[in-house]
Amino acid sequence: MSNDPTIFGFTDDNINTLLTRNKNWAQRTSALRPGLFPSLANSQHPQILWIGCSDSRVPETTVLNLMPGEIFTHRNIANLLPSGDLSSLSVIQYAVEILQVKHVIVCGHYGCGGVMAALGNKKHGVVDHWLQHLRDVRAANKAELAAISDPTKRVERLVELNVIAQINNLKRHANIQEAIRDRGLEVHGFVYDVSNGLCELLDVPKDPEEAEYDLKDPPMNLE
Ligand SMILES: [Zn+2]
Repeated sequence: MSNDPTIFGFTDDNINTLLTRNKNWAQRTSALRPGLFPSLANSQHPQILWIGCSDSRVPETTVLNLMPGEIFTHRNIANLLPSGDLSSLSVIQYAVEILQVKHVIVCGHYGCGGVMAALGNKKHGVVDHWLQHLRDVRAANKAELAAISDPTKRVERLVELNVIAQINNLKRHANIQEAIRDRGLEVHGFVYDVSNGLCELLDVPKDPEEAEYDLKDPPMNLE
């Protein structure tokens, strides 16, 4: 191994290894793109909002080969967008209304631990409350999932169905609907394969319930 410290073998007593790695990275990046950090000091203009899983194997900036400032991010366990989740709602509002991103990507990944947990019936603690949203997707697609005999393929299919379900959830936000209608915001589904580092574009069918969630001005008359 060279004298360049690596993350491998990282332990709690060598936190300075991380700071050294950061310094090396900042120097390399400054040499490669001299104007980058000074420009980022003033503002950000990302074109993409990424909604992905917290999994350490799916770091969006790295897997898309992007630089700081190019992608706005929200990550949580199993890339879920439940209605009423203040954290994701705030990220989406800022990205769409203030930053005016042009693309939103919801990315699931094969081998997702959250998806595997939601396909089983073991108790996991607090996270079960969060995974309830994924169990809803499992329940809504019970027959299709039960027909898949290979357990790995069943996980892969629920990963895909979950991306589709979260895109449907996303498109129920009034600000997303407005941005699609008024300025051509595009929403995409990706699936990332942790075994080869590749993203694929998912074919997302039209939401059959779309009309029920279509929100327009003036505000709905609730009487
Ligand atoms: Zn995951």
